[in-house]
Amino acid sequence: LLSLDAISKRYGEVQALESVSLSVGPGSRTAVVGPSGSGKSTLLRIIAGFEFPDRGRVSCDGTLLAEGPVGVPAHKRGIGIVSQDGALFPHLSVAENIAFGFERGVADRAKRVAGLLDMVELDGTMATRRPHQLSGGQQQRVALARALGRQPRMMLLDEPFSALDTGLRESMRKAVARVLQNAGITAILVTHDQTEALSFADQVAVLRDGRLVQAGSPQALYRQPRDRETALFLGDAV
Ligand code: ATP
Ligand code: MG
Repeated sequence: LLSLDAISKRYGEVQALESVSLSVGPGSRTAVVGPSGSGKSTLLRIIAGFEFPDRGRVSCDGTLLAEGPVGVPAHKRGIGIVSQDGALFPHLSVAENIAFGFERGVADRAKRVAGLLDMVELDGTMATRRPHQLSGGQQQRVALARALGRQPRMMLLDEPFSALDTGLRESMRKAVARVLQNAGITAILVTHDQTEALSFADQVAVLRDGRLVQAGSPQALYRQPRDRETALFLGDAV
């Protein structure tokens, strides 16, 4: 269980997050939605440990991960993140990028890389390419494969499908949901796409201007949206 308790984060003049509290159950899938600049990526970076809040607490399974600006560093959290820009190592091949996350001495590296490429619907021949020889959508999928290969206990996905066209987007979303569910990995997905949010999540969290407007099941938000924007956002999809 992940628990965020009154998280606030400020960048200079910008209050990126203001007292955000949220609970995420083990094995659950949460979608974070909200306009550009509402604090979605900041929230994920704080959960991952790439940033620390000014105030508030992050804890997971009874362990305190952050209390204000101090806490457990990212690499010790066992939390995978696929960021908005993908961020592959440019000097490594696709296969090396994916295998980078494997634990030391793992057997069958090539086979595991092949399995992960297959999972994200990339051709095995891509394994020897460098990131700059791939399209934006292909790079996103390699970043996803790398994160899945680390077998994290929690996975944070920041618009991982944004560069994909509709058909691939949907099959990728289903594939990822299946993989996460089978492995019992808790997931938090940031998305602009209401269909994606509703089909992926059992909890939807709505951010606006750094504040959590509402969090609940898709059905509950649809029935009782707390404001007009949330109603419009969810209404479009139904
Ligand atoms: P988008 O949908 O466009 O990705 P977002 O909801 O992910 O937006 P954030 O990236 O979390 O938004 O940013 C929230 C606010 O904090 C924005 O006003 C942004 O400009 C600001 N911000 C984020 N990171 C930094 C930073 N490192 N330095 C200064 N300001 C930042
Ligand atoms: Mg963002």
